[in-house]
Amino acid sequence: MPSAPVLRFAPSPTGRLHVGNGFSALYSFAAAQRLGGRFLLRVEDIDQGRCRPEHEAAMLADLAWLGLHWEQPVRRQSEHMADYAAALKTLDAMGLIYPCFCTRKQIAAEVAAAPSAPHGPDGILYPGTCRHLSHGEAQDRVAGGEPHAFRLDVEMAAKQAGTKLYWQDRQQGRQTLQPGLHGDVVLARKDTPTSYHLAVTVDDALQGVSHVTRGLDLFAASHVHRLLQALLDLPAPEYDHHSLIQDPDGNRLAKRHGAKSLEELRDEGRRPGELRRSLGFEF
Ligand code: GLU
Repeated sequence: MPSAPVLRFAPSPTGRLHVGNGFSALYSFAAAQRLGGRFLLRVEDIDQGRCRPEHEAAMLADLAWLGLHWEQPVRRQSEHMADYAAALKTLDAMGLIYPCFCTRKQIAAEVAAAPSAPHGPDGILYPGTCRHLSHGEAQDRVAGGEPHAFRLDVEMAAKQAGTKLYWQDRQQGRQTLQPGLHGDVVLARKDTPTSYHLAVTVDDALQGVSHVTRGLDLFAASHVHRLLQALLDLPAPEYDHHSLIQDPDGNRLAKRHGAKSLEELRDEGRRPGELRRSLGFEF
């Protein structure tokens, strides 16, 4: 018997959820219901500087108020660093990662001095400075305790991943993998032994997520995730990137632009059923 679809909502507890986050959660939940699948909640709290337990508790309370329920236990990324370390080790053994000692300032200076600076979906691509260090120098600097991130050597990675790869988006169809779209992405940060891209790819596989539903802002990130799946021999889920809720001026909702939190709406007396229906959900 084929196993039931598994879907998830994976917020980061960096503040209160706003209506756009609520929409995304409802979207995943509704898709799980439509597919007769399971619904998981995952707390993406690798950024210990910005994530707070009180935000997590408030987030779960807001989602429950919105009418969602999910399986227990909830996976909290900060408790699974060993899983991400193991994946990083595999990529290291394949010769696909390198330590990067650059600061943001150094990267900006290098890019400013270059005749042309390739851009990716999130801005300027890393110019590859530390990729050119000799193995000996890189090892010495690591051994000397110099702070460093680890980056994926995306050109080598694409070669190892081999033949053409694809991923499937429910709304936009089959996507040909663009391995270099984001350049040499960070897989472990200076302050955290993993990164968003690595943790999300490992977790979706470990949790058996078959359908990744999330906002269009993460569409391009799926190229990185598909590449990592190929390298780590992980299954490729199906993707469904939904459009983002906008404010009346056509801007994407964001906490920093004053979007109302679910808590504020609740305090104003909004009812969850009415809010769900206003967002287009019929349950
Ligand atoms: N944690 C990510 C965020 O809050 C979402 C990750 C994902 O859905 O893949 O934006």
